[in-house]
Amino acid sequence: MRKSTQPVSSSTLVVRNNNVDEGVIAFGLWLNFEGKDSPAVPITMKKFDQNREVVLHDNVLQKDVSVGIVEGVPICNECRTNDCAHVGFAICAEQMHFSSRA
Ligand SMILES: [Zn+2]
Repeated sequence: MRKSTQPVSSSTLVVRNNNVDEGVIAFGLWLNFEGKDSPAVPITMKKFDQNREVVLHDNVLQKDVSVGIVEGVPICNECRTNDCAHVGFAICAEQMHFSSRA
């Protein structure tokens, strides 16, 4: 159980290697915050379009990042790779079958 009572910033929680593992960690943090937009979470989800696109907000870059899903494979439009934190986050979202209620 990782239930810290100390205030920790996202930068100390997530070392910025920008790999899939970090995205998975970021997703877990975001879930613990019950999907709220919080500066304590390195990445939050803005939009989820099953099998098409996931739009994230990267609180470290301070910008929106779109991850396109092509034939089930997520590709980050910001980093131009399928091996970054945004992709890891998107994969988790896909696996949870997160449904947006637009
Ligand atoms: Zn990325």
